[in-house]
Amino acid sequence: MTAAFKRALVTGGAGFVGSHLCERLLAAGTEVVAADNFATAHTANVEHLLDLPGFRLVPRDVTAPLTEPGRFDVVFHLASAASPRDYFRLPLETLRAGSYGTEHALDIAERDDARFVLASTSEVYGDPKEHPQREDYWGHVNPIGPRSVYDEAKRYAEALTSAMRRERGVNTAIARIFNTYGPRMRPDDGRMIPTFICQALSGKPLTVAGTGRQTRSLCYVDDTVRGLLALAASELPGPVNLGNPHELTVLRIAEEILAVTGSSSRIDYIDAAVDDPVRRCPDISLARRELGWAPKIEMAEGLPRTVAWYTRNHPLEPLR
Ligand code: NAD
Ligand code: UDP
Repeated sequence: MTAAFKRALVTGGAGFVGSHLCERLLAAGTEVVAADNFATAHTANVEHLLDLPGFRLVPRDVTAPLTEPGRFDVVFHLASAASPRDYFRLPLETLRAGSYGTEHALDIAERDDARFVLASTSEVYGDPKEHPQREDYWGHVNPIGPRSVYDEAKRYAEALTSAMRRERGVNTAIARIFNTYGPRMRPDDGRMIPTFICQALSGKPLTVAGTGRQTRSLCYVDDTVRGLLALAASELPGPVNLGNPHELTVLRIAEEILAVTGSSSRIDYIDAAVDDPVRRCPDISLARRELGWAPKIEMAEGLPRTVAWYTRNHPLEPLR
């Protein structure tokens, strides 16, 4: 099989989504350079790739100009803190990764005349007032709250990406990724899935925030990565939603995790997060129509796979 791309740069390539993306690119015969500063990920995520001839992991902070030699024909820009706990702890770094980092990744794409894919997020819709969220909804974001360091950085990254396309002819694409889960999410990244699974596996109470009636729509990582690759291979500029429209309350997700782990942990209610989106669900008509993409792995399959990984890897070292 001929690789769709010869050589890819993946910023944030040691991260949760990035490591799965690198794996898939390598499996398709693409040479991969993963650039990462390990701010929110373990090198362990890509240790199994280090001996492959087509893979190179380079320690890089994307907030400084990227000067990787050789030509890339695709650049995936994923470098950014992504979990609320991480971006609350790294507010300025998150803004810089979304602004300077995106500019530097775009510069490489312009230099090499490469396809560029921005990993944007459903958080650009903020606490949405339209439901489900379509790409033409402009969002409802608090520009000065604690979440804004992530939301506004990604909104700026989308604006910059769009301007580079219009003004400089860079071949860009914007993916708005909705909550993605699977193996390799850091157990201490604070996100619902790793937190609930690790709590359930160690018999601790599951910490449900607020009423637990807020919703999320969970996409298994293999589906998200397939969507990113389909977008890269297309000519679509986006933005395009990538997510699983199966919407569930957080409480229901906690209950599913108790069932899959067979845990008898109780549920404890903790304070709701500031500006926490109340409902989130993607409209994926655009991705279905233009990319022929839809998620294939429902929670009944994805959750046991994820739990199995944590069972094998539990307890993992916290990042710090
Ligand atoms: P992650 O924290 O596991 O991965 C992010 C990676 O970026 C990490 O390896 C981290 O070390 C690296 N990084 C951060 N700042 C950097 C910098 N300045 N220079 C170089 N590397 C840096 O998070 P993830 O869940 O894999 O998310 C990956 C991307 O996808 C992010 O851009 C995120 O915004 C986006 N996204 C993820 C989700 C999701 O549910 N996982 C949803 C929407 C969008
Ligand atoms: N959440 C929770 N308990 C936790 C961590 C998260 O109830 O220990 C809630 C959080 O308040 C939010 C939802 O789960 O309503 C999803 O949070 P996550 O951090 O996974 O992702 P987000 O969609 O907020 O980026």
